[in-house]
Amino acid sequence: MNPPLQLSTEILELRTRHPFRISRKGPEPIRTVLVRIRDADGVEGVGEATPQLFYGETIESVHAALARYAAVLGHDPFDLEGIDTRMLLALTGNASARAAVSSALHDLVGKRLGVPVYRMWGLDPATIPLSTFTIGIDTPEVIRQKVREAAEYPILKIKLGSDNDLAILEAIRSETDRELRVDANCGWTVKQAVRMLPVLEQFGVTVLEQPLPAEDLDGLAVVTRHSRIPVFVDESCHVAADIPRLAGRVDGVNLKLAKCGSLREAIRLIHTARAHQLMVMVGCMVESSVSITAAAQVTPLVDFVDLDGAALLAEDPWTGATLAAGRLTLPTGPGLGLSPRGR
Ligand code: MG
Repeated sequence: MNPPLQLSTEILELRTRHPFRISRKGPEPIRTVLVRIRDADGVEGVGEATPQLFYGETIESVHAALARYAAVLGHDPFDLEGIDTRMLLALTGNASARAAVSSALHDLVGKRLGVPVYRMWGLDPATIPLSTFTIGIDTPEVIRQKVREAAEYPILKIKLGSDNDLAILEAIRSETDRELRVDANCGWTVKQAVRMLPVLEQFGVTVLEQPLPAEDLDGLAVVTRHSRIPVFVDESCHVAADIPRLAGRVDGVNLKLAKCGSLREAIRLIHTARAHQLMVMVGCMVESSVSITAAAQVTPLVDFVDLDGAALLAEDPWTGATLAAGRLTLPTGPGLGLSPRGR
């Protein structure tokens, strides 16, 4: 029998062009864990774990989880379902660590077959929706500057949920008439959200994401009922099993690999959402092209894309999917088609 698959890690230090702030957390630095999985023939796949303190993950917890997952990889990289199951039996939670393993395995399998992962799944990258570009919370002056710098992006995603929401919207509209989507990152109460709805409409906002805390599903239903703008959840939805209780309460879900824990679960989540008449967005954390390119593989299946995580970086250590003028282009190389920058 072949020797077991080998897993190794490396820390990536990422810096954003501007300090990136959302309603609950402060600035940088951002550290992620690059995962490499190598098979007996020396074929290697890569993935990236982006730990989220909000979900109890740190660099240390990712390393500890990866040590457990490395022990259950087995010998066969094509055993994707089996490895996902064994990882969950070894240790639940730790979604970003599992997502890194899943991405690395898909990369490896695609390389062995000589096809990109999206081709392996029969998906057409020509159908990928345009991606948003995110403007984090800041002073009106800095926000105006960020909007000018983001001139190439046709759709902006605005972070609200601070004390300055109105000033932020005014600053943005003083610069641009582009499409705006809003993410409040759990920052409002039901009362605040309902009060904000006509304001958002007046500013021409087209999507409202996670207005309320994650667990307030009844509150989300109230906001959705009052809203003419589609209401999406992000923090309230991690895996496919979360979908049934969201159905009828919101209009859509934001899927992220760092929350759902694997590419296979991402596809299950998309199909479950569809079966419950929910729209799907694919989103990301602030992370390198490794994670963005992995998430990008499922984008031909969704309605909205928000994969600007690597575009927010001052320097991206990898190259893969590119984002130009909001258009996401997938690499044509086998697996995830990634290369270290400069090589
Ligand atoms: Mg969000």
